[in-house]
Amino acid sequence: MARRFSSEELRALRNDVAIRTVIGSVLELPCKKVEGVFRFLCPLCSEFQTGVHPEENLARCFRCQRNFNTIELVIAARQLDFVSSVKLLQKYLPGNGRSTAVASDDDRLRRNERCSAVESVATVLSRCLTQF
Ligand SMILES: [Zn+2]
Repeated sequence: MARRFSSEELRALRNDVAIRTVIGSVLELPCKKVEGVFRFLCPLCSEFQTGVHPEENLARCFRCQRNFNTIELVIAARQLDFVSSVKLLQKYLPGNGRSTAVASDDDRLRRNERCSAVESVATVLSRCLTQF
């Protein structure tokens, strides 16, 4: 059986992964600015008659008359199923403490540094203690 996602997880993916990130970094859809307005290539009709609503974190195609949230956009552009699209987006979710599995390399690096810092303090302390 496919893994189920909690509504909390799905809400985070729809709200916390910026729609512009999904368009630009996740899907790498062609995009351009027309008269100062950000537009992307609609994955359904291949037109640039589109826009984004950053406040609602939605993308819209005026030609298709459709709104896409982050998950719907991945499904439409990559022709993935729902579960695969959610898994793809989870990699781009900003670190929220419980998503250690999807933490970026940077996060892992930082955590390792913290660990070794704590370790060295402990080593120094134990060395001091044995001296006395
Ligand atoms: Zn369209």
